[in-house]
Amino acid sequence: MCKKFYLLILLSIFSSISAYQTDYDYIAIGSSPIMMLEALYHHHLGNRVMIVEGAEECGGAWKSIEICGIKHVDMGCHTAGGNTKMIDFLENYVGINMVPMVPNDKGKKKSHGNYYPQAGCYELIEQILKLVSAANIPLSIGHKVSSIYLHENLDYADVLIDGRTYTTKKLLVCHGTELNNESEPSYQNSSPREFPHIYLLVKDSSPDHFIYTGGGAHNGLSIVRVSNLTPYCDLNGSDKKIFAFEVRSKTPQNFADLCLDYLHSKSLIGKNARLLNSETYTYSKAYLPRNFSNKLSPKGKEMFVYVNTTAIWNIANFASAWEKVFPLYQEVARAR
Ligand SMILES: Cc1cc2nc3c(=O)[nH]c(=O)nc-3n(C[C@H](O)[C@H](O)[C@H](O)COP(=O)(O)OP(=O)(O)OC[C@H]3O[C@@H](n4cnc5c(N)ncnc54)[C@H](O)[C@@H]3O)c2cc1C
Repeated sequence: MCKKFYLLILLSIFSSISAYQTDYDYIAIGSSPIMMLEALYHHHLGNRVMIVEGAEECGGAWKSIEICGIKHVDMGCHTAGGNTKMIDFLENYVGINMVPMVPNDKGKKKSHGNYYPQAGCYELIEQILKLVSAANIPLSIGHKVSSIYLHENLDYADVLIDGRTYTTKKLLVCHGTELNNESEPSYQNSSPREFPHIYLLVKDSSPDHFIYTGGGAHNGLSIVRVSNLTPYCDLNGSDKKIFAFEVRSKTPQNFADLCLDYLHSKSLIGKNARLLNSETYTYSKAYLPRNFSNKLSPKGKEMFVYVNTTAIWNIANFASAWEKVFPLYQEVARAR
């Protein structure tokens, strides 16, 4: 009885010491928009938070890239939908200028349809990064979380990042978090999926014909969707346009000509438009299933917060909670 009592006291002392000693309360693995916003949410609740991004740039599938010699071009084709809760949150709390996805209609507000950041993925991620920086949240870029060890009895985890161990009480993970098989305990990501894209830089002085459209089969090329990214990057107002094609599988050798032909065949570019440059970019991703923690003990499960990042309009589901603790963007901008 007496022994048990002392053991309990020792355990509670250990847990309070470990709770006090962890480096962070939350470590967020990945820097896609919803992950960074959720990390900010936990920071505003008074927690010590760190964000870790394994790639050289933030944003995940919403990052921007330099391609065909043009900077800050969206990686891939995106829509953000028209959910007003999402739009209001991004405008009021993240300082993003959301514009309708209608050609030559930039800046005009409409009450329906799809909206998008005026400067595309670049604006979305840069604005969130401003909030992360204003909140002094440590952001580790280019360093992958290689393993996690859960001290389930003591309510904390060791997180190994580039040979250095950080301790945390909780982990923010999501669909796009990759935890390799050496992780302890072992989590199972799906096998990596490839999202190949073809970019075309085109000389075309006609007005924009479209912003975003679904694809189809075209002479052996299976096109998933096409985006005219011109309005969102520095090319706006020039006689050049940039297009992104998401394609399904291996591209035929003459992929650039086929894509240009596709745009002509659908009257999506001017009659005299001609190809200036083309490049490919493949986004590769292994996904973490939602039930990944099934084999963990209840305490182990509690250490993970699974954030539903699967679509950007999921922001609408988080917005009510986030709005209670986020300062308005105007206040953040004033304080910078
Ligand atoms: C090509 C493409 C187009 C899409 N288009 C749309 C769209 O139009 N609208 C929409 O709403 N959604 C779209 N999505 C869905 C998109 O996946 C989600 O909107 C969102 O980006 C998912 O976020 P995520 O964090 O789960 O994954 P991702 O966006 O893939 O981001 C995961 C990030 O975590 C990092 N990471 C992973 N594991 C680790 C680790 N162990 N250590 C450190 N960093 C790590 C990765 O480097 C990456 O940056 C698209 C996805 C793809 C691939």
